[in-house]
Amino acid sequence: QAKSESRHSLRLFSPEMNRRTQERAALERALRQVIDQRGLALHYQPQLPSTTPGRLYGVEALARWHHPEWGHVPPDRFIPMAEEAGLIQELTHWLLDEVCRQLAEWRATGLVVPHVALNLSARNFHDADFANQVYATLQRHGLAPGDLMLEITESVMMDALPATVANIQALHARGLRLSLDDFGTGYSSLSYLHRLPITELKLDKSFVQDLATSETARALTLSVLSIARSLGMTVVAEGVETEEQRAWLDAQGCPVMQGYLFCRPVPPAQLAEWLGAMTAEL
Ligand code: C2E
Ligand code: MG
Ligand code: MG
Ligand code: MG
Repeated sequence: QAKSESRHSLRLFSPEMNRRTQERAALERALRQVIDQRGLALHYQPQLPSTTPGRLYGVEALARWHHPEWGHVPPDRFIPMAEEAGLIQELTHWLLDEVCRQLAEWRATGLVVPHVALNLSARNFHDADFANQVYATLQRHGLAPGDLMLEITESVMMDALPATVANIQALHARGLRLSLDDFGTGYSSLSYLHRLPITELKLDKSFVQDLATSETARALTLSVLSIARSLGMTVVAEGVETEEQRAWLDAQGCPVMQGYLFCRPVPPAQLAEWLGAMTAEL
């Protein structure tokens, strides 16, 4: 039976497509396994307030997968796969738990980390119990709602599902803050901004990267800053790589920045070192 099946697929797919399908299946199996074994790592990237040097605004947690054979598998590859394979709930709960554990540990050692930002998928909000689970995890680690920032993308907002709306409202009612990631890249409808309890906009790095060369990127950045100001939201510029970008954003009143210029996403121990060095510089 396996033989006839494979002959069948050979007729349907070119060898190239067949190879890619197999690769994908292998990747998915490995992902399932690494999630089961809790074998992913989290790296953390500092977010810095423009006006108060030497202090931290927060850190963003970013998932990392090092495969023994394939090396670094980027999250842009495995997160969508986890979503499609129905693994994202389990993955998110584990990452949420790990982020809370890590923050509590930093606090216990006297490290000042105001909050950790965690990226969420639209699918997380389909689970009717999601908001309760987030809150329960915080409590389990002795943390408060303000200790987390939940990063969502416009795909979450476009989901008009009752469960999504209810989760967003429940999170907000509990005091959890939501950040709109990659702002400006999706199919943003500005009306979402006043209908939903968003407290932070993350200016997408594609704008930041084009600041030096594109009048349009500069104009759009100024509009984002202005919208955020009038709605009482904060802005985090992501992907800040050059001193020129930093200076321009600072001059325009961009309150928070994140990017390789300051620090790459690093393992927890390295973040502690980096923070120590930053504080010592003052
Ligand atoms: P994101 O949330 O928009 O994260 C920002 C990405 O920009 C990260 O890529 C980060 O490493 C990268 N970055 C930071 N500073 C710079 C810079 O100065 N220059 C450039 N070129 N890039 C910079 P990364 O870690 O590869 O993550 C890619 C995306 O994967 C994230 O985009 C996020 O959407 C998703 N992701 C990562 N971890 C998680 C997770 O735990 N859960 C979920 N649901 N998604 C995740
Ligand atoms: Mg993010
Ligand atoms: Mg982003
Ligand atoms: Mg992104």
